[in-house]
Amino acid sequence: LALDRTADNTEIVAAQGIPGVAGAALRVPLVTGGEIGYANLDHAASAPCLDSVRSAVDEFLPWYASVHRGAGFASQVSTRLYERTRDILRRFVDARTTDTVIFTRNTTDSFNLLARSLPRRTSVVVFDTEHHAALLPWRGPNVRRVQLPRTRLAAVSVVDEALAACPEGPRLVVVTGASNVTGELLPVAEIAAVARKHGARVALDAAQLAPHRRISLRELDVDYVALSGHKLYAPFGAGALIGRSDWLRAAEPYLAGGGATKLVTSDAVVWNTGAERHEAGSPNTVGVYALGVACEQLAANWTAVGEHEATLLERLRKGLAGVPGCAELRLFDAPVDRVGTVSFVVDGFEPGWLAAVLSAEYGIGVRDGAFCAHVATKRLIGECGRDGQQAVRVSLGLGSTEEHVDRLVLALRQIVARGA
Ligand code: PLP
Repeated sequence: LALDRTADNTEIVAAQGIPGVAGAALRVPLVTGGEIGYANLDHAASAPCLDSVRSAVDEFLPWYASVHRGAGFASQVSTRLYERTRDILRRFVDARTTDTVIFTRNTTDSFNLLARSLPRRTSVVVFDTEHHAALLPWRGPNVRRVQLPRTRLAAVSVVDEALAACPEGPRLVVVTGASNVTGELLPVAEIAAVARKHGARVALDAAQLAPHRRISLRELDVDYVALSGHKLYAPFGAGALIGRSDWLRAAEPYLAGGGATKLVTSDAVVWNTGAERHEAGSPNTVGVYALGVACEQLAANWTAVGEHEATLLERLRKGLAGVPGCAELRLFDAPVDRVGTVSFVVDGFEPGWLAAVLSAEYGIGVRDGAFCAHVATKRLIGECGRDGQQAVRVSLGLGSTEEHVDRLVLALRQIVARGA
């Protein structure tokens, strides 16, 4: 097996019948000399912009103007597109007609907004394995961090028991759709059913699920969903919190300032009650527009997106299984449905060093570390019989090709063969 420096990712990506992404033609230098097509295997961190998003943004840029405030034509265009994106997102997650769509910066921002909007004394149940964005915003004595057990069934029971032990009052369960460490899907619908039994609401962290799978708030019976544009093939800076409006309408505005108010007098403020209540200041009009275009593109291509990823994921996992000393991290004992994210450790090799060599010598971009999920990463490394707190993560997306996967596997085999 040899490294093919001529592989042209643009042609490979274009032949796959899936939406094209920016960056397919990028070439990166190698320390060994020359260059190679960039193998971006870090989609779970941020996904490259779709080509269609890029051209839509290009067309929109001359038109962007202040939303909600200007009478000029460009302001009207911007306002129309901004508000239309709320409908696109509502459809994207199959929300209820009464749900509010609030534009935020990202998933982290969305959960902080939700945390600030909870009624007093809301009990929150959250798995300790969550990404820090879903784990940390909830504060106070009524937050219960529960350990995620090794089966999906037991996970549902743990939530059931935790809710049963909550004091009277509002309750919220926070759960991720897909783990950012292992790609495994959590039993969201089952957890939502148990939550209902206890009169609890459910907030879904869809940062990792939304780029890979169709989501239906109605079918899952979930109350809130948070997502990030930069993981959905749109540029950075726009995300959303979508869900039941009552708590959000009653909460203090997340940000105080222009746009969130109906009327301000010298000694009083009347705040808006809709989404604008939490969107003070000039919003990220371009980012929101891009997010909407990306969601529409994904929604029109779910079958192709799923098939592309399933094929590559199988190839990747088979390849990793053949790398001596490589152990894959898993949340659950039995195989479960999963998106294209795999974390692993390789005996005798420090993850940061491995990731650096993959980049410098093979032109492969992966992530190493604890993935903003310190508890999960440490425990899962321990559960596969290794020590350590850090791993390597490979995450597939629309820009991934068989050549990328094969190159990664080849690289790991070569690195292991020559020793640390
Ligand atoms: N939740 C999960 C599962 C994630 O993977 C991430 C980011 O990696 C986040 C939340 C936070 O997303 P953001 O950094 O866009 O706020």
